[in-house]
Amino acid sequence: MTNQVSLAQGREYLAIPGPSVMPDAVLRAMHRPSPNIYDGELIEMMPTLTDDLRRVARTRHNVAIYIANGHGTWEAALSNVIAPGETVLAPASGRFTHGWAEMAEGIGAQVEMLDFGTASPWGFDRIAEALSADTEHRIKAVLAVHVDTSSSVRNDIPTLRALLDDLGHPALLMADCIASLGCDRFEMDAWGVDVTVTACQKGLMTPAGVGFVFFNDKAQAKRAAMPRVSQYWDWQPRANPEMFYQYFNGTAPTHHLYGLRAALDMIHAEGIENVWARHEHLATAVWTACEIWSEGGALHLNVADRAHRSRAVTALRLTDGLGTPLRSYTETQLGLTLGIGLGMADTDGCFRLGHMGHVNGQMIMGMLGGVETAMAALNIPRGKGALEAAAAVLAGQG
Ligand SMILES: *Cc1c(COP(=O)(O)O)cnc(C)c1O
Repeated sequence: MTNQVSLAQGREYLAIPGPSVMPDAVLRAMHRPSPNIYDGELIEMMPTLTDDLRRVARTRHNVAIYIANGHGTWEAALSNVIAPGETVLAPASGRFTHGWAEMAEGIGAQVEMLDFGTASPWGFDRIAEALSADTEHRIKAVLAVHVDTSSSVRNDIPTLRALLDDLGHPALLMADCIASLGCDRFEMDAWGVDVTVTACQKGLMTPAGVGFVFFNDKAQAKRAAMPRVSQYWDWQPRANPEMFYQYFNGTAPTHHLYGLRAALDMIHAEGIENVWARHEHLATAVWTACEIWSEGGALHLNVADRAHRSRAVTALRLTDGLGTPLRSYTETQLGLTLGIGLGMADTDGCFRLGHMGHVNGQMIMGMLGGVETAMAALNIPRGKGALEAAAAVLAGQG
């Protein structure tokens, strides 16, 4: 059947890997007049936010909040601990590590890049080689992207920590968990991460615009030894403000804070361990469906091994550049928006499924049903029974 009427009317699903779906509770919390920024409720709410953010990142250390997206937190974190001319090591499993490394170059750092391609996790042999060769400890930080959202590779941060410790290398371990916080297990203190950057619009379910930098005492010691840090990026007054305005070096992002408060309440009501378990269960259903579709030969999961896959985003490739037509079909015909391919050679063939944050079983089945429908409409060969198998996973029978 061609030229059929669009079926896109109704509640849409923005299944891209950020910004993620905003809960109604977050939207409602933001729908209010501007509060007084000198006195009262907003000022009293701030310590509850910083405490609860620490709980989500599993750290007892400091948090600085910025009116910024993830890129802003990249620069903020680097600006506090990396002086011009200092070296950072960047093991890359996709586009986002390159982006952070470019940011480091922009503030005058030397970047030692270890590129593991667009479908593989870090290779610890090569990282060990680079760190061992650095006998003078020129490398001041390792830029570790936990989940690279472009490739959907999930990297093993505890093993990287163990490697640094075994080699006695003093570089700071800086983690980007923008795509993983509130989705995949991430434990800043237990994993020995010195600096963590994240942002609010993925697992934290809040509209883009607020970012967070968590840092421990070792990172603070490096900060204290810096020749200078730009006043706006300086994390010290933000993490230990004497006056309310110092949290943000100016006017607070009032409505984002109300939205974030509601989102953190939801995460704590569910329990962070349950949030991780939900993402894992939903992701397993997504992988199961994709693995069965791939038996038809046209669809490929970018990350072959489940053990290295993100539970928040899944990158896929279709033969003959069919990724773009598939996305176009789901969006215009079904009200389902899928993520574009990013950082891949064959951009039109690639697409990504976002399954992070405020997502549940029926949304995941709807998303998978949308992909199945688009593949049917485009006559894309695919294995049969993907939806039944995904349903069995969700039912605990997979
Ligand atoms: C989304 C994302 C970023 C960039 O965040 P922006 O808010 O778009 O600047 C950086 N790193 C990772 C891993 C991400 O998923």
